[in-house]
Amino acid sequence: MASAGETSTDVVVVGSGPAGLAVGACLRQAGIDFILLEKEAVLAPSWRRHYQRLHLHTDRSHSGLPYLPMSRSYPRYPARLQVIEYLEAYAKAFSLAPRFGEEVLEARRHAGAWELKTRAARYRARALVLATGYNAVPVRPHWPGMEGYQGVLLHSSEYTSGERFRGQDVLVVGFGNSGGEIAVDLFESGARPSIVVRGTVNLLPRELLGLPILTWAIVLSKLPPKLADAVSAPLLRMAFGDLARLGLRKAPAGPMTELATRKRVPLIDVGTVDLLRRKQLQLRPAIRDFTPTGARFEDGTEADYQAVVLATGYQPRLGQLLGSVDGVLDAAGRPLTSGQQTSLPQLYLCGFYVAPTGMLREAGLEARRIVRALSQTLQAPVPAAA
Ligand SMILES: Cc1cc2nc3c(=O)[nH]c(=O)nc-3n(C[C@H](O)[C@H](O)[C@H](O)COP(=O)(O)OP(=O)(O)OC[C@H]3O[C@@H](n4cnc5c(N)ncnc54)[C@H](O)[C@@H]3O)c2cc1C
Repeated sequence: MASAGETSTDVVVVGSGPAGLAVGACLRQAGIDFILLEKEAVLAPSWRRHYQRLHLHTDRSHSGLPYLPMSRSYPRYPARLQVIEYLEAYAKAFSLAPRFGEEVLEARRHAGAWELKTRAARYRARALVLATGYNAVPVRPHWPGMEGYQGVLLHSSEYTSGERFRGQDVLVVGFGNSGGEIAVDLFESGARPSIVVRGTVNLLPRELLGLPILTWAIVLSKLPPKLADAVSAPLLRMAFGDLARLGLRKAPAGPMTELATRKRVPLIDVGTVDLLRRKQLQLRPAIRDFTPTGARFEDGTEADYQAVVLATGYQPRLGQLLGSVDGVLDAAGRPLTSGQQTSLPQLYLCGFYVAPTGMLREAGLEARRIVRALSQTLQAPVPAAA
């Protein structure tokens, strides 16, 4: 039973991105009572903020959420706006009505239930599913001299399009999926991009022998990572040739092993490699420091840039919310498990598995698994607050 001013339910789902929506749809199908909380004013806000050029790197047929595939009228790699359209239709189809503007500030286990606080309300639930996103907080590294840099400095999460950089020299920091695509976008918008590649890399083509790369990844993920990499290595060499000729250093282990052991996501190429081949994208080593007009690099070279885009990734933010994170998060604040019961009773995380098989696909699979577990365990009434 809820105490005064407290709303009681079976499950609170936090986050209305793809993962939270997928959990909501599965709960709806299972007939379990739930409330979906979203801190922002719209659903899937992260997809509304992403850069305009963004298309899914994973193909449509492997990127849909449970019970409702993406429309066949979409292209194989849907555009960002189509993803938003799909997620809105998805929410409607399962009557998902997130409570917007409800940021969960604190979640604590008390007297056999989860108690949650937002600025305006309190909730009590028998189970809690956190779908707050692996990409919650932009990572912004710091270099000496950065404060004195007079150009435009922004994180990839703030980059919308290359239009404003036409005719400018722009440095993209980071050779991940965002960095690689933003470099292409800058070039296509008439800017002169350079890209910082700090270490070794793994590259994947978006398609291999006519099949989406995810199709390959799903099949290969059934093998141990090292074996999967051994099988795919000749095909990847065939796709890209010798990476050293492009100035890149191949990672010592293949993409599956790097992902499994170091959580390093390979770059799915959407045109970056071609720009490197045509020398329309300049490679730079790690930054040593910033100058007022540009950057100096580890090899001693220096160049001026009117803008620097930090495509340096994101990290989850769960520690503050949960307070005690023993057995739930690692020392870096990353979840130890996703899609199954954590070490805390009736606490589930969804969407935190950085997988070779696509995060959207995995979020859907996790949502189904979580709701199967909840269907079995949620049988007694909500215990009253002590
Ligand atoms: C640029 C980019 C491109 C990507 N492309 C692909 C792709 O092609 N294919 C693929 O499979 N994956 C892709 N991903 C990875 C992943 O699928 C997406 O990040 C996806 O949006 C993750 O969904 P999510 O619901 O887990 O997280 P999010 O979409 O980040 O949603 C989390 C939600 O939780 C809300 N929230 C957070 N904290 C709180 C709180 N305390 N209280 C209330 N609400 C809260 C947030 O506002 C947000 O709405 C991409 C990621 C990025 C960054």
